[in-house]
Amino acid sequence: MNISEFIPQEITKEIENTSFTWQTPSNIALVKYWGKTNPQIPKNASISFTLNNCHTITTVDFQKKSKSELDATSYTQIDFDLFFEGKKKEEFKPKIAEFFKRVQAYCPYIFDYKMTINSENSFPHSSGIASSASGLSAIAMCLMSLEKQLNPALENEFINKKASFLARLGSGSASRSIEGPLVVWGKNSSVEDSSDLFGVKFNKKVAAIFNNYQDAILLVDKGEKQVSSTVGHNLMNNHAYAKVRFEDANKNLENMAMILQNGDVKAFVSLVESEALTLHAMMMTSHPYFILMKPNTLKIIDKIWQYRVENESNICFTLDAGANVHVLYPENEKESVNAFIAKELAVFCQNNQYILDNVGLGAKQL
Ligand code: ADP
Repeated sequence: MNISEFIPQEITKEIENTSFTWQTPSNIALVKYWGKTNPQIPKNASISFTLNNCHTITTVDFQKKSKSELDATSYTQIDFDLFFEGKKKEEFKPKIAEFFKRVQAYCPYIFDYKMTINSENSFPHSSGIASSASGLSAIAMCLMSLEKQLNPALENEFINKKASFLARLGSGSASRSIEGPLVVWGKNSSVEDSSDLFGVKFNKKVAAIFNNYQDAILLVDKGEKQVSSTVGHNLMNNHAYAKVRFEDANKNLENMAMILQNGDVKAFVSLVESEALTLHAMMMTSHPYFILMKPNTLKIIDKIWQYRVENESNICFTLDAGANVHVLYPENEKESVNAFIAKELAVFCQNNQYILDNVGLGAKQL
């Protein structure tokens, strides 16, 4: 592993006060990441669609500390304030404080500034729709914008790669929330430049059927997750089926790489659903064990399966580590499937709520 390339060699500019705003997406994994070693190294490779409407918008104001402030803290204190939807949000701070601690060796300039973070999400946080991915990738992009000002020679390719590397240290799946439409994170033989350290764009030619794929996120349970990601990943340590799962996931990624290129949408449906159910099977067979699906999750799956047969549709579902359902379908079925969701699936959602989304291209500076 070569992490030295992420340690800045030269800072050529002095910057006093500056500010950046980034919009970064959530993502939905097709082959799942579940199980890791320190520091945030995945046990298997994963691939996701980058989302478009589910995103975070974050502004970071950087205010240079005075020499006396820096002397008083021996240049080792990370100072930040966090506002979420306009209000201070103490509950979010521990994850972000941990993130800054993990990235400090790669972004030593953060000691020089007081950072004020203002953020908002377009979707419910902490409920399994990967707000940690969009939230942390947004801060990572703001850090890289500062680094670019400090060292204007940096190139965009490196900026995205390092942003993904940094974001990963905050939340593994955040490494897949910098670029789009498809991102692979984790070393896998079918994707030459793949790495455990950062996400890379899936750069093979993808069949037309997968362009602008649709994802309707059905909010079965908007409440906070029953099992945090950290606890969830730890369940894979000493899990009886872990070894087989990690091998299977890597094989599934190889198959998915083929499917995306050859356009075999039936194989896509089968692989995506099997991945989702395997993730939940891992949770049901861990110690302690959990059932994260709710009765309405199963009712929705049943309806999707019925609809697929009756309409010769390519609709399918996937799940993250929670009860909410992602309904995936090609763009050419958008009208009919959206009508089906409104008529038959919305009733199973909390307050009939769901989010219509589609595949997006990644982080945008605003
Ligand atoms: P999710 O499924 O939404 O990712 P997690 O519990 O894994 O749920 O992550 C939620 C955590 O992600 C929050 O406690 C907070 O630390 C972080 N987070 C969510 N949204 C943001 C945001 N906009 N900015 C910074 N951090 C965020």
